[in-house]
Amino acid sequence: MESSGGRAEGSGRGPRVLVVGGGIAGLGAAQRLCRHPAFPQLRVLEATARAGGRIRSERGFGGVVELGAHWIHGPSQGNPVFQLAAKYQLLREKDLSEENQLTETGGHVGLPSVSYGSSGVSVSRELVVEMASLFYGLIDQTREFLHSADAPVPSVGEYLKKEIRQRAASWPEDEETRKLKLAVLNSFFNVECCVSGTHSMDLVALVPFGEYTVLPGLDCTFPGGYQGLTNHIMASLPEDVIVFNKPVKTVHWNGSFKEASSLGETFPVLVECEDGACFPAHHVIVTVPLGFLKEHLDTFFEPPLPTEKAEAIRKMGFGTNNKIFLEFEEPFWEPDCQYIQVVWEDTSPLEDVTSELRHVWFKKLIGFLVLPSFESVHVLCGFIAGLESEFMESLSDEDVLLSLTQVLRRVTGNAQLPAPRSVLRSRWHSAPYTRGSYSYVAVGSTGDDIDQLAQPLPTDGAEAQLQILFAGEATHRTFYSTTHGALLSGWREADRLIALRDPQAQLPGPWL
Ligand SMILES: Cc1cc2nc3c(=O)[nH]c(=O)nc-3n(C[C@H](O)[C@H](O)[C@H](O)COP(=O)(O)OP(=O)(O)OC[C@H]3O[C@@H](n4cnc5c(N)ncnc54)[C@H](O)[C@@H]3O)c2cc1C
Repeated sequence: MESSGGRAEGSGRGPRVLVVGGGIAGLGAAQRLCRHPAFPQLRVLEATARAGGRIRSERGFGGVVELGAHWIHGPSQGNPVFQLAAKYQLLREKDLSEENQLTETGGHVGLPSVSYGSSGVSVSRELVVEMASLFYGLIDQTREFLHSADAPVPSVGEYLKKEIRQRAASWPEDEETRKLKLAVLNSFFNVECCVSGTHSMDLVALVPFGEYTVLPGLDCTFPGGYQGLTNHIMASLPEDVIVFNKPVKTVHWNGSFKEASSLGETFPVLVECEDGACFPAHHVIVTVPLGFLKEHLDTFFEPPLPTEKAEAIRKMGFGTNNKIFLEFEEPFWEPDCQYIQVVWEDTSPLEDVTSELRHVWFKKLIGFLVLPSFESVHVLCGFIAGLESEFMESLSDEDVLLSLTQVLRRVTGNAQLPAPRSVLRSRWHSAPYTRGSYSYVAVGSTGDDIDQLAQPLPTDGAEAQLQILFAGEATHRTFYSTTHGALLSGWREADRLIALRDPQAQLPGPWL
């Protein structure tokens, strides 16, 4: 294997460090290392032609659409994404206000502005509010089981269903209203699947669920696009640090690799790319998504990962959440409408879906957020999680547009509702270097698996230290699935290297 030339060549100028992946974790790590004099030999290898990873803003509909991360969750002083975005002046005045930063949402999605039923009649606000309060009350109760040894059931889904079944038994209303209540609850289950990035809440472990930490602050968006943030970080790096279109195939470690241009020097790691290029290094920070790691576990590391780490990767959850944007000539919703909920009246969280996906996939859609109008363009953004979301990825734009037009005509009771002008959607499960949306703590795993994944290699300390370090959202025990978790994890691993190479350095961590 021949090694590649470029910026990081040469010896005697400090350790050679490679970052695999140019999402916010990788960029954050690179920015921190670049600012330290001990790391002049740094490269980021990014598989695709762009930086940002799951932060992906595209021009569309006369404005910017977010195909990946949407909000800063908990925009307040403890959130480094908020702090950076504020520093780079990427946020609106109102989102920076003290009042916004202090608002506590509990991490719950706001109430819908309107709830359309599948019979074409709107569901009463009173009933929706009652079910939202029941559902989110139960979600809050799941925290009681954190660290508990005697959880009643393994998953969040089973717990919610057990409690709902009990309460439903004493609902005083007629059969039809009780069915409608369950259908509304089913819609909240769909929302929670999007939040957790899972097919079913039955897959999400109950005991560690409360370990995910919600920061204060009213979730906010980036008026110019989330990617402005990663673009700013990228612009702060020396020009040739990031190498695009360089998918890494295998990380060889615990070796003694040489290169022709660095006579006498040996490197414990050699990163081999899909195009055959090889980069020797002292340290590699791996930030690839958990979905990619799961798929390539058998070939991505040589020698293979220790059993405990490989097992943690297999056990941890990684699912799909996608967005479908629909552009309309004219809005059919009220001017103050923010969130349109869709309730399928024949569904219930207490009954399993048995029909084929192609007949029912759209029933998993939570409904639509109304995006702010850009120059009189009117856009709805639907969210859909799980296997139905993955199935949606296999359909053509025309099929998706047709199905959702039929859904909207049906739920609004308006058979003449004009079809959307265009559709744009994400396909995170098909993306070869992502393979899904974000991680969750699955039944059979715990927060210890997240820590296990984050543990650098080798673990015994006998060999060259910190050969492979792990960052990325899935490695943050309390902020997994978020951009701030990803950024903190990148900083954490950069600081780990800085502490090794410059023990006197003053580090701002710990990055918990
Ligand atoms: C639809 C959706 C909505 C979301 N909404 C929010 C939200 O509102 N708020 C929030 O905080 N978070 C949200 N997230 C999650 C957030 O986007 C991620 O947690 C975060 O961006 C992950 O950053 P990362 O650096 O860990 O991974 P990534 O951004 O995935 O970066 C990893 C990089 O590694 C590259 N890569 C993969 N394999 C290789 C390889 N073999 N060689 C080289 N490079 C490779 C990839 O191309 C990618 O650029 C959302 C995610 C999705 C998908």
